[in-house]
Amino acid sequence: MSINNIKFILNKAIQSHILCEKEILYLIQSKESKKLFDIANKVRLKYVGNGVHLRALIEFSNYCKQNCLYCGLRSDNFKIIRYRLKLKEIINLANKAKYYGYKTIVLQSGEDNYYDIKKMSKIISEIKKLDFALTLSLGEKTFEEYKAYRVAGADRYLLKIETTDEILYHKLNPGMNLKNRMNCIENIKKLGFEIGSGIIVGLPGQTLKSIVKDIIYLKSIPVDMVGIGPFIYNPDTPIKNINSKNLFELSLKIMAILRLLMPDINIAATTAMETLNNRGRIIALQSGANVIMPNATKAIYKKYYKIYPGKICIDESPVHCRICIENKIKSIKRYVSNDKGYHCKVNLLSQ
Ligand code: SF4
Repeated sequence: MSINNIKFILNKAIQSHILCEKEILYLIQSKESKKLFDIANKVRLKYVGNGVHLRALIEFSNYCKQNCLYCGLRSDNFKIIRYRLKLKEIINLANKAKYYGYKTIVLQSGEDNYYDIKKMSKIISEIKKLDFALTLSLGEKTFEEYKAYRVAGADRYLLKIETTDEILYHKLNPGMNLKNRMNCIENIKKLGFEIGSGIIVGLPGQTLKSIVKDIIYLKSIPVDMVGIGPFIYNPDTPIKNINSKNLFELSLKIMAILRLLMPDINIAATTAMETLNNRGRIIALQSGANVIMPNATKAIYKKYYKIYPGKICIDESPVHCRICIENKIKSIKRYVSNDKGYHCKVNLLSQ
């Protein structure tokens, strides 16, 4: 059968969870995206069920030593108001998250060296006393730092690869190195963290072929969690205005393909998707996703964590976000999962 046949490719993906570069490209370019989304939704139901894992996001510092051209937290952005939360404030937010019923905390910041190993280990161990699964998203660190976080009790680590296109990566991330980033991901995995990664879709200069390579890279790690974020232009960065119009659907397709290739992993319906489409996270949940990360940071700080503008739920309180998201989940006959939402690996050969 010809490769140019969506039914053939989708069947192959369901049976083997393996696709070649040409087949992935075909799915990305296909106009029959609804078929892809429906199949990804069925695969999601079969392997991870109807529960949606909520991860409470605490953005505890918007300082960053890096200077990524597309990001509002970049060190050369002097328009942004910077903040750092103290241990007490972080624990206070975590306690509230506990009260709202969250089982996982995601601690996120720019690459901020103020929080050295000692400070970070203290924050981690205090949060772990509250019986959370704990995810860190602090950027690139040394092996020793990752190891200390693991010893202190952190369970998971998010580090987006952003793009595996070496030339593009080095152009957009001055002073950073793709090999080093990949090395960080290997180290995180070696240390026994659940590893989360993902890409930004629609970066200036990115091609569909390079996105195909990104997908293959994510499967090769293999990741335990994935988040796909459409690129949203930030006027406070050197990047010129980019139209994000078609990026919602493109991001959704990439996410759905990842569900077919890695059927049992956790996949986020990302906030950036909902920034482009006001039903974005719900549509993503119906196209393969099973995780949402509601913001549990105080409203006074949320507005300063401005990687891109127009982010949803900036003025809402953490309790409002918690109630709102649960209602949205129930509206599509899904439910908020009551466990910590670890990656439950399925033996694909026995399926
Ligand atoms: S993308 Fe990450 S590392 Fe780069 S400037 Fe933004 S917060 Fe810092």
